[in-house]
Amino acid sequence: MKLYRGMAVSEGYAIGPVRYLSSQKENVPLKKTENRPKEWARFLQARMKACSHMMELYQQALSRVGEHYAGIFKIQLALLQDEDLLTRIRRCILEAGYTAESAIEKTADEYRHVFEEMDDEYLRAREADVQDVKQQVLMQLASSSTLESRRETSPAWEEPCILAADDILPSETLHIDASRVRGMILRQGSQISHAAILARSLGIPAVAGVADLPHDEDLFVIVDGFSGDILVDPPKEKVAIYADLQRQYEAERQALKQYSDVKTVTLDGTRIELMANIGHPNDLTGVLDYGADGIGLFRSEYLFMYCDQMPSEEQQTAAYGTVLQEMQGKRVIIRLLDIGADKQVPYVKMDREENPVMGRRGIRFCLEHRDILMTQLRALLRAARLGKLGILIPMVVSAEEIHTVRRLLTEAAQALQNEGIPYSGEYELGIMIETPASVMLSPELAKEVDFFSIGTNDLTQFVMAADRGNPKVGALCQAGNEAVRRMVKITVESAQKAGIWVDVCGEAAADPELTEFLLSIGVRSLSVAPPSLLVIRQTIRQIDLIRLQEIRE
Ligand code: PEP
Ligand code: MG
Repeated sequence: MKLYRGMAVSEGYAIGPVRYLSSQKENVPLKKTENRPKEWARFLQARMKACSHMMELYQQALSRVGEHYAGIFKIQLALLQDEDLLTRIRRCILEAGYTAESAIEKTADEYRHVFEEMDDEYLRAREADVQDVKQQVLMQLASSSTLESRRETSPAWEEPCILAADDILPSETLHIDASRVRGMILRQGSQISHAAILARSLGIPAVAGVADLPHDEDLFVIVDGFSGDILVDPPKEKVAIYADLQRQYEAERQALKQYSDVKTVTLDGTRIELMANIGHPNDLTGVLDYGADGIGLFRSEYLFMYCDQMPSEEQQTAAYGTVLQEMQGKRVIIRLLDIGADKQVPYVKMDREENPVMGRRGIRFCLEHRDILMTQLRALLRAARLGKLGILIPMVVSAEEIHTVRRLLTEAAQALQNEGIPYSGEYELGIMIETPASVMLSPELAKEVDFFSIGTNDLTQFVMAADRGNPKVGALCQAGNEAVRRMVKITVESAQKAGIWVDVCGEAAADPELTEFLLSIGVRSLSVAPPSLLVIRQTIRQIDLIRLQEIRE
């Protein structure tokens, strides 16, 4: 057996033979034409046909995997109709004398370089859209279908298999018959590549970034979509273990599906707000499918971690705006940059600290880096026009920190006003309760803000003096510990007294064993990672708060 490691991008287990999808990125040799007007007309016609084909793909994707994924084809359509693209191709054909095929090849190449150099990983990943648009037009120019021939030459769809490829273009992903693909392995790709998004949408276990996977046709593998492990030629015992895990996982998943579109209410009819934690607009796929009531925690630092340069105000406005828009008026809580300790961004040099977990992180970092904070505040205010925004301050230990952020928000709004940039002053301001100081000061802090969000991950490590990243003290670092429970209870009581709302967004919110406790002390809002939405909804629906109350009395 040989073990390969990649990035787990879609959870689940898959066992089976590998089938390869050969790379489609062959380049068209550049050729000149004798008849420039004819080539231009050929291109225009192919472009028109490609546009209507993309509309068909959009409709297919919409009915198969929903709007979030189908939107990719709308983006591609916009790209194909882009004025700049058209001008470049026109010049290539009418001025430089290239054939239609060569012009699209040359122009796609130029676009590729532009995308490759982009800072934002999400935008860089859109290079696949350029390639796909190119293939669509080439396909129309060639009247014979390149995609179909690639599909036909691949035996991948004939029997249940593990599909392996360098990467998969969006239009190709639609040809994938999910019932015949048990799992996916991508040599390239990332959490946010199209294939990864599709795999998650279809519930196909997938691992990306397995650059060294051998190309042998006869491989038999296990794909572990939780750890990112690929086991090649595993012994019988391993196959049996994974087959068991797979059965267990499938049974649980099937049973949970019934909770996708039912209300989040307890047995006695108490409505609970169940929201989702995300780190990037791309995480929205599961959120919408599983009917979350909003985004309880958008960890904005992940957006920064995806980039290799500080994301600009425009980039941030676009990312926050996308999430607010997609959530259609439901609550979206965006946390201010919480870097430091275990979350580092490569382009921000931080001083070495003896104990960074208790160092200049979270709001402390933001207040020391006013330029970074002001850019984020401006982007948030600009995006606030698109939905119901909550701004969340991380690692708070005093009221002064809140006062400063409020003042800076007023300054940012004033600056936008002076510059004539549209923004909205309608948002809620809240704080993370994740330090013992904020718990003990919660009666006073509650008067300063609109909401509390209890971060049980950090709160637990600080209350228990047990590093959350150190497995050796893992048994101590448990949110279910009585000391942590009491801290959470104090916080909820302070919020109730002040009449502000409170949610729990740390991992404790996703632990079914703690749901009853949290609801029993008055928590009515939970925020969990998208894959945990259904299991927590199921748990909530089995709790009877009136009975619990009676037992206590
Ligand atoms: C927490 O500390 O509980 C929390 C939600 O924040 P993070 O896990 O990002 O530190
Ligand atoms: Mg935290």
